Amino acid sequence: MTTSRIEAGSSIASAQRDSALEGLETRILLMHALGLTRVQLITQSERCLTAEEAQRFTALVQRRMAGEPIAYITGQREFFGLPFSVTNDVLIPRPETELLVELALERAPHGARVLDLGTGSGAIAIAIAHSRPDLQLTALDSSAAALAIAQQNAIRNLPPQAVRFLHSDWYSALMAGAQFDLIISNPPYIVAGDSHLRQGDLRFEPIGALTDHADGLSALRTIVKGAAAHLVAGGWLLLEHGYDQSAAVRELLIAEGYRQVQSWRDLAGIERASGGVRLA
Ligand code: GLN
Repeated sequence: MTTSRIEAGSSIASAQRDSALEGLETRILLMHALGLTRVQLITQSERCLTAEEAQRFTALVQRRMAGEPIAYITGQREFFGLPFSVTNDVLIPRPETELLVELALERAPHGARVLDLGTGSGAIAIAIAHSRPDLQLTALDSSAAALAIAQQNAIRNLPPQAVRFLHSDWYSALMAGAQFDLIISNPPYIVAGDSHLRQGDLRFEPIGALTDHADGLSALRTIVKGAAAHLVAGGWLLLEHGYDQSAAVRELLIAEGYRQVQSWRDLAGIERASGGVRLA
């Protein structure tokens, strides 16, 4: 019988055996509750849990069983090989978003000014800045709470002042003449009322980071239209979007006169990002 309540005096091994969660999640939550590394969990497997440890672990298991994402329970998620702090003020960084980072790294000229719109936890901007110290990153978000997390993540992963953060609703707080050589964004793109918003991890994530409360394309439209004022001629605009939005996003880019408009597949084979080059 598995259980969500682990009693004091249980060994680490028996807590793992009896947990109602699957193995990996159990190990992650045990490491978190006991402050142990993966290796310590193995070498100390016969050690018995104190009452406090058992209680702490049980509380985490119960949160997970109520559906809360592991990343919010531990406050951590890895992205592009870097550790990020996350709370429910920010979207949990997704592995498929690493595609956008790779596309930007391949296309940003040396010393380029890069703008990340709707940075959330800062994952995209910080991953780019970490790989390419030559670039000048600006990352903005309309959520002050998200920016506070992004700033913590920059401190954690980068030298001081490596990314400039700005509180802004898309382009609105940028100076009129501010120019960038590359613009990137993973905006909210889920259609209002989509059933996925009521399932799994998404139920716990900030709704404004997931959906535009409209047809799923309104933030993407705002970003594509506004880019004309801030993207240099010859600069790339790179966007993440939903699994069924690639044709619509290519159309938006073509309508605005972008060249080399194309989409790229994520590791699951889904067209997950699209982009183009701004015409002179
Ligand atoms: N990729 C996320 C999901 O479908 C959505 C993130 C977003 O809207 N930018 O779960």
